[in-house]
Amino acid sequence: MQLAAFPRIRLGHLPTPLEFMPNLTKLLGGPNLYIKRDDCTGLATGGNKTRKLEFLVAQALDQGADTLITQGAVQSNHARQTVAAAARVGMQSKILLEQRVQDADEEYDQSGNVMLDHLMGGEVVARLPAGTDMQAEMEKLAQTLRDAGRKPYVIPGGGSNPVGALGYVSCAHEMLHQAYDMNLRIDHVVHATGSTGTQAGLVVGLRASNSGVPVYGVSVRAPKEKQEENVWKLVQATVDYMGLPAGSVERSDVVANSDYVGEGYGVPTEGMIEAVNLLARHEGILLDPVYSGKGMAGLIALVRAGHFKKDENVVFIHTGGAVGLYGYRRFFHK
Ligand SMILES: *Cc1c(COP(=O)(O)O)cnc(C)c1O
Repeated sequence: MQLAAFPRIRLGHLPTPLEFMPNLTKLLGGPNLYIKRDDCTGLATGGNKTRKLEFLVAQALDQGADTLITQGAVQSNHARQTVAAAARVGMQSKILLEQRVQDADEEYDQSGNVMLDHLMGGEVVARLPAGTDMQAEMEKLAQTLRDAGRKPYVIPGGGSNPVGALGYVSCAHEMLHQAYDMNLRIDHVVHATGSTGTQAGLVVGLRASNSGVPVYGVSVRAPKEKQEENVWKLVQATVDYMGLPAGSVERSDVVANSDYVGEGYGVPTEGMIEAVNLLARHEGILLDPVYSGKGMAGLIALVRAGHFKKDENVVFIHTGGAVGLYGYRRFFHK
């Protein structure tokens, strides 16, 4: 498997650190908890979309695009990283925001990622109601731009297609290499899963290299069955895109859980608030309220339920997003 065959530009500060979390490990009484710091990818406060954008923006440049279009929730980390990437390569960026979270306050609507979108020159073209067909809206916008003589490149929500997923195939290789250098046997990988590119890429990368490392996705939105089905679809498309033999990955390699979503996407849960506070106070690490906070809440609950053996090594992928905390101040600021 040769990732070098696919166009890629450098946007991130890579490799990101793979670190032990001694205090959280002690506090929970094992297993050994490690963290892959993909919140430190460096692109305008970083996050997991940076790795995907290295491949997506390379393709956009190859196609002669002058504008990146993407979409996300109002506090989208993906939109913010896309705007930053556009700024870096001298393109324009136009984003569509879906008002997916109800009962939002002014800080949610204006602070955090939204502030940074504006700061970096991203144009928020529209804020659309929850449930809008965002892909269709992006296609419409792209057509309008083409009619005006522009060359737009449409990036799907979360950057999750086979091109974007290559970023996490690459992360899997990077992490295995680091673990080897550290003499670390990884027994489990756990992370928050949403638009599926992260999980699909990790599963393909870890499986196609025969590492035997299982990936566990903690869903932040869709029910378990739907999330697994969506990840599986992207796994198959990525295997195909990379020219790997069909059957390189099996359906049973895709495991997700939707027990920590709570009332819905972007709606705080007690577990999320506990996880954000624990990591902040005991490790000095900032999680986010929408993704990594719920992912970590899932990991903590699994540890407490005895899901892992005490001597196992578990890696949590920190997918970033702490900028979103500013949009959720009222849930933390007491
Ligand atoms: C987008 C995002 C995720 C989810 O990754 P997907 O590839 O969309 O599944 C997790 N954490 C953060 C902080 C994100 O912004």
